[in-house]
Amino acid sequence: MTLVQIADFARADHLAVLGAFHTDAEDAALGLGTLILLGPDEPGFWHYVTAQTEFTDSTPNPLDRWSHRTITALARRLGGTPYFPFGTPVRPFITWALRSGRAWVSPAQLLVHDTAGLFVSYRGAILVPGELDLPPPPPKPCESCATKPCLTACPADALTANGYDLPACHAFLETKDGKTCMTQGCAVRRACPLARTYPRVDAQSAYHMAQFHK
Ligand code: SF4
Ligand code: SF4
Repeated sequence: MTLVQIADFARADHLAVLGAFHTDAEDAALGLGTLILLGPDEPGFWHYVTAQTEFTDSTPNPLDRWSHRTITALARRLGGTPYFPFGTPVRPFITWALRSGRAWVSPAQLLVHDTAGLFVSYRGAILVPGELDLPPPPPKPCESCATKPCLTACPADALTANGYDLPACHAFLETKDGKTCMTQGCAVRRACPLARTYPRVDAQSAYHMAQFHK
């Protein structure tokens, strides 16, 4: 099995391989192999996933439940072990993202992914046995981003080079002016040029914002 073949399997469920790395001695609890990070395959993810059964049964957290069902089934098919960024035990997805070589700390201190941009939404990961051949890591997109709009896009100055002021963000989202973030997603994410090539529909952004700002 190659990473390309695994990506083809994942794409059938509208998932994309967002990175992978070989585990090592510091991952004793996981075991040795290749850890593959999965996230939405865009465009079209939201249209696909909201037609799945989890979105029609009126039970909370449909996206996490769909991710769990789908990635568990994919892991079984690959002879691997699934892991998730929700529930317990808590898994170090940010560390895993950095180790994949496809995500970095952005100037606004959030993770930025080479194709998904800011607020990358990992839906799960699968550890498969063996060391798969992996492509070389891409360059960090921020190095060629001349204007760095992520540093100035937040209307509440809640997300800047100084980091993420969560109380200031939540306070702004309560205001009339915060409605655009609630319905279209974080202005900082939308300002990053990568958002143009990895688009989210407004309903998808609104779902994530509602989960964030409960
Ligand atoms: S706006 Fe530019 S500098 Fe900021 S995260 Fe996106 S690519 Fe990097
Ligand atoms: S959601 Fe809106 S207020 Fe919060 S960090 Fe993003 S742009 Fe700023």
